[in-house]
Amino acid sequence: MSEDLQGLGVSAGSAAGPAARLGTPPKLPGLEPAVTDTGAEADRAVAALETVGEFLRNRAAATGGQAGEILVAEAMMACDPALAAKVRDLAGSGRPAAWAVSEALASYRAVLVSAGGYLAERAADLDDITDRAVALLLGEPMPGVPAPGHPFVLLAADLAPADTATLDPAAVLAIVTERGGPTSHTAILAKTLGIPAVVSCPGTLSVPDGTVLAVDGSTGTVVIEPAPEQLEQAARRRAERAARLAAARGPGRTRDGHPVKLLANVGGPADVPAAIAAEAEGIGLLRTEFLFLDRHDEPSGEEQRATYAEILAGMGGRKVVVRTLDAGADKPLAFASQEAEPNPALGLRGLRLDGLLPALLDTQLEALAHAAKDTGADVWVMAPMVSIPAEAAAFADRVRGHGLPVAGVMIEVPAAALGAAHIVEQVDFVSIGTNDLSQYTFAADRQAGPLAPLLDPWQPALLRLIAMTATAGRTAGKPVSICGEAASDPLLAVVLAGLGVTSLSMAPPALAEVRAALAERTLAECEAAAAAALTATSPAAARAAARAAAEG
Ligand code: PEP
Ligand code: MG
Repeated sequence: MSEDLQGLGVSAGSAAGPAARLGTPPKLPGLEPAVTDTGAEADRAVAALETVGEFLRNRAAATGGQAGEILVAEAMMACDPALAAKVRDLAGSGRPAAWAVSEALASYRAVLVSAGGYLAERAADLDDITDRAVALLLGEPMPGVPAPGHPFVLLAADLAPADTATLDPAAVLAIVTERGGPTSHTAILAKTLGIPAVVSCPGTLSVPDGTVLAVDGSTGTVVIEPAPEQLEQAARRRAERAARLAAARGPGRTRDGHPVKLLANVGGPADVPAAIAAEAEGIGLLRTEFLFLDRHDEPSGEEQRATYAEILAGMGGRKVVVRTLDAGADKPLAFASQEAEPNPALGLRGLRLDGLLPALLDTQLEALAHAAKDTGADVWVMAPMVSIPAEAAAFADRVRGHGLPVAGVMIEVPAAALGAAHIVEQVDFVSIGTNDLSQYTFAADRQAGPLAPLLDPWQPALLRLIAMTATAGRTAGKPVSICGEAASDPLLAVVLAGLGVTSLSMAPPALAEVRAALAERTLAECEAAAAAALTATSPAAARAAARAAAEG
């Protein structure tokens, strides 16, 4: 038996089955065929890009929600007129269609990569478009998710949004990727679909197709050719998990009744039914920029009002925390884009854009105020990327000036966590965005797979910043939420409750597991787990200490 693999568990649950690998991208032959009709070749090349765009749009329509939005954005890249013009130029100068497409996209990729931070994600989108268009032009099958005719464990280097978006949870038992971090698209979408996933797992690509694997999406362990008793154990664990999850219902609370609100992260109206089905007590993070990722122009106030009202009405009176546009860095918006910056993640993003485009925030707040009135919903509004108390105070004034009574900010920058005691004085609540707080605390791009260990949400330095923020909130009597990926790790949720956070917001499929984990511990056990994790010197030690303490 070969050695088992170890990666980062990013989507809970366990599964076992035969491995099947993501379809490999086509390779351009070394020798370029001669071109006789350059005009026809250019037409062929552009037609292939349009076919890819249509394929992605169809997938988007079949998918909907946050995943659909990502696919629409990718389709727009494939059909970008500037890209078509570049491809035509290259084909016109005698390059065969497949080579022209590959070279044009490679030049865009290089520009994105050299521009800075958010690029792993965007570069993966461009790679996906290249592979699909080149395969079409070479007459090869489109790369992507295999269809072996039975359920399987999907193996890949990393997954493009187009692949994850249409995964069928009934066919894909689990996902294991060689690259990707805890906040990558693979992790977020796997969690949204409820598929167990392990990322950043060295050795994944050397596992032959058909090899039986037992995957644990909580611990990150991948057992190769498990013995029958290991398979039985995995099946037992699955059945126990299903029974535990079915037993935990209703609002989030510890075994002794201490409430911790369980909320949903949502990207648009299409995600609302899943939040309701998972018994979310409200929305803890509405990522409004996800509504507009594919738009060239700013949506009108009326359009925004209607979309917000649809979401608020869908939540039937439950609390909804709306985040104002978080444009820039890993979430570029065409209508809010800036001149190229050397470090977009450290530049004019989130609330900082307000200095340049103040009408954007005012239109959004006005639309929200109308939607709140239209529906009578309990709307809380918060700003992304706040660093200092003065920004929090100015934002709260703007929000209240629009008649929205509850204003808060996200704590995503270490300075904001360190200054949380002063920030909470300015607002009604705070919500910790652990994805960005990790990125900025560890100076590690959140999309960079090789840096995944630094981005582990169990890093004790991150936990200390969370503790500092939670203490500031408790002292001021103001709610402190967590809405980054950290909230969806069941054992970490126990630690976060012990640190004093008052709500946890996550992708709806993660709610049941977190609800069960809280319901199994008393508040004192949560606090003991938190104290143990805080004094650890590594993520592994923090996990072990918390587990031992939480189990009394
Ligand atoms: C975060 O940074 O943790 C967060 C919730 O915001 P986003 O992932 O949308 O940047
Ligand atoms: Mg963020």
